[in-house]
Amino acid sequence: MNRDEIIHAFDRIRVWQRGDRRAVHKPLLVLYALARVLNGDAAMVDWNMAEPRLKELLEEFGPAGSSQTRHNPFWHLQTDGLWQLDGPPELLARPAAATPTLAELRKSHVLGGFPKALRAALAGDPGLAATIASRIADAHFPESIRSDVLAAAGLPPDIADESPRGEQRRRRDPAFREKVLCAYQYRCGVCGHDLRLGRQTVGLEAAHIQWFQAKGPDEIPNGIALCSLHHKVFDLGVFTVLPEAYQIVFSQHLNGNDETTRRFLSYQGAALILPQAREYFPQAEFLNWHREEVFKKPGRGSAGP
Ligand SMILES: [Zn+2]
Repeated sequence: MNRDEIIHAFDRIRVWQRGDRRAVHKPLLVLYALARVLNGDAAMVDWNMAEPRLKELLEEFGPAGSSQTRHNPFWHLQTDGLWQLDGPPELLARPAAATPTLAELRKSHVLGGFPKALRAALAGDPGLAATIASRIADAHFPESIRSDVLAAAGLPPDIADESPRGEQRRRRDPAFREKVLCAYQYRCGVCGHDLRLGRQTVGLEAAHIQWFQAKGPDEIPNGIALCSLHHKVFDLGVFTVLPEAYQIVFSQHLNGNDETTRRFLSYQGAALILPQAREYFPQAEFLNWHREEVFKKPGRGSAGP
């Protein structure tokens, strides 16, 4: 495979999806493995060493409960031609669908890593690993948490795509931000933040409810105006918005006693500050997607999901 073919092979990794379900197992494993390459670690990693890292990454950036299947990409990335395993022959000879259990992978100390030819290509071209990592992050995670995902995987948070931008990428609507901010009258839907420097809004962003990376459309009912902080934590699943009364519900996993946490939780159960016209209100299908795919369940309080 040449450089472009390698980049495209990673662009095409089969993420296991039903409908709009979010499957970030393979992307997170690839990021973790690329970090190992860039850090000069051993080519093959023992499952026992990779497991706690993948578990953490899925708990932080995957849908609720996804860390239970943390071993799946370690096995299934083979079928994309981008991974190879080393272990007991009888285990490796299994059909692709017969995923080994966590216990089997642990006991046999199965090793996984990029195939030899790919490894050689990556080792001889550090920009290639950076490009793949950057494209994976852009394709599967919103920009607000991109640097967090990369840093957690062990990569430089500002890693950049050094290839010519792929023409087959979906184009974003440049007007989305302005339309959403206008609909919400230039204030955060949670805290009402509406700071301006002269005529310029400061720290106010248009969040996608269903991520753009998960086929969420660039339409106002799929957007909420949020301050930078509420945008980031919304994309991390710290809170969600229930479709019935647009009620804000925080995750039970959020905790702490400091002033910041208390201020955060003061919005628990409050209603979203709604946009100025009914047609702009967040649509239930997008809010449901966020609750299922991003929100760190369970929610606080009796109204929680
Ligand atoms: Zn806010």
